[in-house]
Amino acid sequence: MHRIHNFTAGPCTLPRTVLEQAQKELLDYRGTGMSVMELSHRGRLFQPLHEETVVLARELIGAPEDFQCLLLQGGAHGQFAMTAMNLMVDGGEGAIVNSGHWAGRAMSEARRIGVIHEAWSGEEDGFTTLPDDGQIDVPAQARYLHVTSNETIGGIQFRELPDVGVPLVVDASSDYYTRAIPWGRCDIVYGGAQKNLAPAGLTVVFVRKSILEDHPHLPKILNYKTHADANSLYNTPPTFQIYLLNLVLKWIRENGGLTRCTALAQKKSDRLYEAIDRSAFYRNSIAPAFRSRTNIVFRTPTPALDERFWREADKRGLHGLKGHRAVGGLRASLYLALEMRSVTALVDYMRDFEKTHG
Ligand code: PMP
Repeated sequence: MHRIHNFTAGPCTLPRTVLEQAQKELLDYRGTGMSVMELSHRGRLFQPLHEETVVLARELIGAPEDFQCLLLQGGAHGQFAMTAMNLMVDGGEGAIVNSGHWAGRAMSEARRIGVIHEAWSGEEDGFTTLPDDGQIDVPAQARYLHVTSNETIGGIQFRELPDVGVPLVVDASSDYYTRAIPWGRCDIVYGGAQKNLAPAGLTVVFVRKSILEDHPHLPKILNYKTHADANSLYNTPPTFQIYLLNLVLKWIRENGGLTRCTALAQKKSDRLYEAIDRSAFYRNSIAPAFRSRTNIVFRTPTPALDERFWREADKRGLHGLKGHRAVGGLRASLYLALEMRSVTALVDYMRDFEKTHG
């Protein structure tokens, strides 16, 4: 069977064994004569699957008891709004580290709800660096600080999340389950599942239980407490995505858990950065201390060669290397299910391309 090397930024590659199991169970899930897609979400078979998924999601990322794990819809954009709505419901204020495209989106969405201070901005430097704690200026009245742990488009990542004495809200969409979370200083951690964990349509959210509150003026569907009280079954959840999340989480567990995922993300990205750095043909302009381990951005000497690079790559079965339309260039997303052999294939192709065009 033909499977390509898939470097897209999400939705993206899933573990082959997971897809095979889903395929095997597609028409008849555990002798029911039904697909998981056809099971009632409140039925005898789906409920345990749902509960097991939540337990696995919590365990694998080490979420402590004082956090509730919610499986929601609406993607990270939904969380841009929901985090602000729940945390600023009574007119409170928030702050954000403006690290690039996604932080900018989170900021403009939250500003529709309340006052959001820009605690730091990387704009002047073209979003090629991140602040240390001393550079983050959070006003005393800010209830929380929103950070994007990894900028998927800019290819920049916090090695350590800030520790500035105010609760963090973390958009972990593109490095979810590839790094440990400093739970003690977080109030909310969220991410779309479509990069490291599952197909699109599912958002994995961890909320500190102490912030769960009834908010009479907030639509119930947008209140975290509604979902926490209903154990993420307030309304019909995306059942098939949850099933695939379950399979991917088991695959993570069988493959050494978070520690191994972290080590692999480092190993794969090191290999690619090494190839970029040892050539004068390719370049990456992110400050080395903040280079992303999941989204590696790079350029050849000209935009025309960039285009040629990804077009020819595609023909060789290396798919999804075109940079985001907002920034151009090239980007390789190395999410959890992307294997080292795909990185090796990319590095080999880079060498050949440089020989021909360098
Ligand atoms: N934040 C980050 C860091 C992302 O990478 C993305 C999607 N690429 C989003 C937010 C938006 O996610 P969604 O499409 O699930 O709303």
